[in-house]
Amino acid sequence: MKKASSRSLQFGTDWTYAPAPESSAHIQFNERYGLFINGRFQAPSTSRYFASINPATEKEIARVAEAGSSDVDKAVRAARTAYEKVWSKLSPSERGKYLFRIARLIQENARELAIIESMDGGKPIRESRDIDIPLVAAHFFYYAGWADKLQFAFPGRSASPIGVAAQVIPWNFPLLMAAWKIAPALACGNTVVLKPAETTSLTALKLAEILQEADLPPGVVNIVTGAGATGAALVSHPGVDKVAFTGSTEVGKHIMRSIAGSGKKYTLELGGKAANILFEDCAVDQAVEGIINGIFFNQGHVCCAGSRLLVQEGIAKDVLRKLKDRISTLIVGDPLDKNTDIGAINSKAQLQKIKTLVNAGIREGGECWQSECEIPSKGFWFKPTLFTGVAQSHRIVQEEIFGPVLAVQTFRTPEEAVEKANNTPYGLSGGVWTDKGSKIFKMTSRIRAGVMWANTYNKFDPASPFGGYKESGVGREGGLHGLYPYVNLS
Ligand code: NAP
Ligand code: MG
Repeated sequence: MKKASSRSLQFGTDWTYAPAPESSAHIQFNERYGLFINGRFQAPSTSRYFASINPATEKEIARVAEAGSSDVDKAVRAARTAYEKVWSKLSPSERGKYLFRIARLIQENARELAIIESMDGGKPIRESRDIDIPLVAAHFFYYAGWADKLQFAFPGRSASPIGVAAQVIPWNFPLLMAAWKIAPALACGNTVVLKPAETTSLTALKLAEILQEADLPPGVVNIVTGAGATGAALVSHPGVDKVAFTGSTEVGKHIMRSIAGSGKKYTLELGGKAANILFEDCAVDQAVEGIINGIFFNQGHVCCAGSRLLVQEGIAKDVLRKLKDRISTLIVGDPLDKNTDIGAINSKAQLQKIKTLVNAGIREGGECWQSECEIPSKGFWFKPTLFTGVAQSHRIVQEEIFGPVLAVQTFRTPEEAVEKANNTPYGLSGGVWTDKGSKIFKMTSRIRAGVMWANTYNKFDPASPFGGYKESGVGREGGLHGLYPYVNLS
């Protein structure tokens, strides 16, 4: 494995930033958190609590209740009662008012939420502060606006709510995924039972406190924490009318099988293996920044991460040199430090998965290059990594790694780029970098991906829909499209 030689590569001298940690001294955690059912926190019937740790230090932050099937049942019943007696009866503008209130409270608590997100999940504070939490508030604002305007979303048709939504979310954007799920469901008049990921439940539980503060009627949102079994009990509960899942393709397929024939509506937002395509006429320096943002942002724990780079042959050498120089400057370490570019890998299990796939890449003959950056001795870390000499059939080109690992391939013609980009089981996202508008349209219409960025990457907005083709999922979230899964239309 070849190594780069530190930040001095680019700047000629060895230097480093002084530490700039965000203080977490004022953040209060309960020793343990109960289940949020019918508007209040309650002990689980299992009497079991599991630890939520900080992946950067491996220290326990708090203990979280493990919901058993009777707790899930209780939560679904609470959601049903709230749906029938309160929420579906409320005027749409009143529903909107609650959502606006929640959005404002999220803004008021933004700093605390960002710090908790970074402590519990390992992502750099710069991202949780500047991307995750502002987008969480933006989603609530956006769907608050739709609540009393559904007749304009579906002109000439009448929209009614569906009922109780079971929502299961992953650990890579914990609060943002909760917002993507809860905001449109509530705006359309549904009630919710949400299951956060086992390693990152804490911001969802803080959100529960915000919902209490917003005086949201009891039972409209219920949060049941636990692991996969809790999620399985929730989606297969007969009292659920709609399932919204974000997570791996493997679990998505399992859920699809478990609800087959039940009549439940469903949306599945699953994995990805996106390609960033660089043409010779692109602005190379901007493209290099885009690639860095595409794969190293959030440790590569991003379903739409640009984990493959397809670069046109004529510029490949230049791009690779610039990429390695830039990667060598990335700072890996304390998620709470404002200078950190790459934080902690979310869990030991995820770190192991990344290592396994990287080792497979080496065994299959890929040439692996890693930054020589320092990493802390405690916690879960992975250095930014780049593979060249890989073939389309290699596992690291086909499988989602969900870590800071980029696989680089070259191409000669646009046809070859399209062929390679489309040649995985996924179809979630992609990027095209070129000076020619016509090439952008030609490429984006031929690549089978739900989201395509042009001369930029990883840009999100609540007004824009998101979702995948093929094994990347079914249905769309976000924007006007994100209302459809939560209404019956007549
Ligand atoms: P995961 O293992 O599929 O877990 C996702 C959620 O499902 C977690 O809350 C998990 O609980 C729960 N779960 C596990 N087994 C279940 C079952 N049998 N029935 C119901 N729920 C079950 O995925 P992950 O590793 O957390 O997240 C990474 C994956 O999410 C990646 O593949 C990524 O691409 C995908 N993702 C997709 C999008 C998108 O919008 N397309 C967005 C973000 C992430 P526990 O975690 O507690 O076990
Ligand atoms: Mg944690």
